[in-house]
Amino acid sequence: MAIRFNEVSYFYEKSKKNAIVPAAISGINLEIADQNEFVTIVGHTGSGKSTLLQHINGLILPTKGEVMINDVILSKKNKKLKLKPVRKQIGFVFQFPEYQLFEDTVLKDIVYGPKNFGYDDEEAIRRAKKIAKQLNIENILDKSPFNISGGQMRKVAIAGILAYDPQILLLDEPTRGLDPLGAKEIMNFFKKLQTESSKSIVMITHDMDLVYEYSTRVIVMQNGSIAYDGSKEELFKEEYKKYSLTKPTILKTIDYINEKTNRNISYKNYTIDDLLKSLEDGDFNE
Ligand code: ADP
Ligand code: MG
Repeated sequence: MAIRFNEVSYFYEKSKKNAIVPAAISGINLEIADQNEFVTIVGHTGSGKSTLLQHINGLILPTKGEVMINDVILSKKNKKLKLKPVRKQIGFVFQFPEYQLFEDTVLKDIVYGPKNFGYDDEEAIRRAKKIAKQLNIENILDKSPFNISGGQMRKVAIAGILAYDPQILLLDEPTRGLDPLGAKEIMNFFKKLQTESSKSIVMITHDMDLVYEYSTRVIVMQNGSIAYDGSKEELFKEEYKKYSLTKPTILKTIDYINEKTNRNISYKNYTIDDLLKSLEDGDFNE
């Protein structure tokens, strides 16, 4: 157990006279392990997804209740709270993280993260180069981060966080604004990182196709509360309708084939390749 929310509520501002300000999130109870989870958070705009996510690394502290990261209590009452060690363990990739690039070369921008968390120059550069290679941006390290493609900028910003090797990654719509190929590339990279390095990822997305392909657990937010917390297969049987979510493309395809050909192909096919294999193998049942 790494992350625990205990009755967490958050108000952006105190209610003024005659104006009741609703809680952005309220009464949240939640546990997320620090390994092997890929949690996606979905829900309508304004439902509290970003507010919840920002609590996990102390970007905002609860108005009521507490967030625990291992034995560290993230609360305004904790006068001894040191956020830096928490943030080293829990990396946050903002929406459009490339807006925060500022150095004159890509390498300097990536190196900023690990240096900020205490690595000396040599080690920071070593880490930056290693992660750049994995993300396929090692050939642009000397370029200005403002003279590269949008997809590359996104990777540079993400590399700056991965270079200090956080155990948990928080991602707020990491593929927003990327072309489909760029989105796929970055998602495959995150999934590989999560499984091969036994990390946990908590990701906000509106894209049900990403939810179905990558997550191990789905949380649906509604009006500041958790309305669903469970498996993706269960969610997309019936329950998704209650939250006006759309069905992932792969499941629409499976429904269509099942209906047209009288098969019973399982929802445990998460990608089109899984589905093709099931069709080839004649493996149609649960
Ligand atoms: P989501 O990420 O699901 O779109 P948010 O967590 O951003 O939802 O917002 C939850 C609620 O808090 C919304 O009612 C939103 O208007 C409000 N809110 C979000 N950010 C702020 C802020 N900086 N100041 C005041 N209210 C905010
Ligand atoms: Mg948001």
